[in-house]
Amino acid sequence: MKRPIRFLLAAAVSAAVAHGSSAADYRCFYANLHAHCGYSDGRSTPDTAFAYARDVALVHVQALTDHNNGGAGYTISPAQYANVRLVADTITRPGAFVALAGQEIGSMGSGGFGHLNVWEVPELSMYYNTQSSLVACYQWIASQQRPAQFNHPGAGDDNNFNNLHYYPEFEPAVGLLEVFNQDYTFTDQYLHALAAGWQIGATGNQDNHYSDWGNHNGTLGVALTGIWADTLTKPAILDALRSRRTFALRSKPAAGRMQLSLLADGHWMGERYLRKAGAVALEIDARSPDSSMKRLDLYSDGELVDSLLINQKVVSWRLSRDVGTGAHYFLVKVSQGGGGTAWSSPAFVEVPPEDDEDKAVTWPTPVNEGARVVYRPIDGVTRVAVDIYNLAGARVWRSVTENPAASIYWDGRDSRGVPMPNGVYVILVEQQSPTQTKLTKGKTMVAR
Ligand SMILES: [Zn+2]
Ligand SMILES: [Zn+2]
Repeated sequence: MKRPIRFLLAAAVSAAVAHGSSAADYRCFYANLHAHCGYSDGRSTPDTAFAYARDVALVHVQALTDHNNGGAGYTISPAQYANVRLVADTITRPGAFVALAGQEIGSMGSGGFGHLNVWEVPELSMYYNTQSSLVACYQWIASQQRPAQFNHPGAGDDNNFNNLHYYPEFEPAVGLLEVFNQDYTFTDQYLHALAAGWQIGATGNQDNHYSDWGNHNGTLGVALTGIWADTLTKPAILDALRSRRTFALRSKPAAGRMQLSLLADGHWMGERYLRKAGAVALEIDARSPDSSMKRLDLYSDGELVDSLLINQKVVSWRLSRDVGTGAHYFLVKVSQGGGGTAWSSPAFVEVPPEDDEDKAVTWPTPVNEGARVVYRPIDGVTRVAVDIYNLAGARVWRSVTENPAASIYWDGRDSRGVPMPNGVYVILVEQQSPTQTKLTKGKTMVAR
């Protein structure tokens, strides 16, 4: 695919650190969301670890995520987890430092599927909830209503989360993916998860097992998560993680920490919003305090679609991209001259069918692996039921949600999981609000 490469004129570079029109609402904080202490297979105690991150590594947010899954001698006990919670709450100072109590759950090795972090859950999870199967793990996370991420997603059967297969019934249980873990890079898995249907954002973390919480310096630099939040408080940080208002960065200590934000039509990265077909206005802002950035790459729907070659410490990239009916995303990668890198979370843009109010479609069409059901929502919607019928009039699939923000994804199978034969199918969407019920019809096609 042919891509335009742009060279930025100096005049187009804004000297001010303007992060979009609504940027004033949020400030950038740096977090390490994956680390261990001596409660599992790391070093020392929670108070030492948090104090080191705050006073030596100078991060704003530090999580301890000891294993609940490490076997004898490497597994945090419920009493130890309760102590992490207590220490984290005690050491947290609004405006200065936020300590998060997390746990690393799931399983790897024989029969495993991968590791996940979940933060600020009241209790330590039990084996049968989070290690016995991937689906049980997702169900437990969804029941906790706390932010969670895929840790170090690999290529093996024991750590690739069933090849990152998308389970729409558990969205938004897992909203983030560890793009950087120490010197390991998972950008392929990030793009793969997005292609599979997950609406996820990016984190970068250190998975510390030694006494270097927050400043573990690998060959590639220090991995961190940039978080855009209005204040440095635990509720604001958790809200930003849930909202995927994040980016993954790896900074070389001498080059300083990068900042990166992306807004689409004024919506922050991480947000999902609806609009009409046409030009999406993208505002990308990046700064790198001590080392020039060389390149910005814009990705959309799995493709590298535009690049900007620069030699600047501060850049504001303004561009527009046309979108048609369907579900889309935009995200950006920054490359620093000194070797640092950052990946933003995506902004998710959905375009319901134009003109015809009574049309539902799938994106993509035809359905192969699966597709999102796209329709125009009514005001105040509280419940959505989507039914798929074959042309003989038999209902083959149904999805009901009371979360109007959830997107609805059909995997091209019937309710028992059997792949549907190729052909045309009818979509029926029933939306309910306190004042009305609306039926929207459409057609789609399965072709494999
Ligand atoms: Zn792990
Ligand atoms: Zn770990």
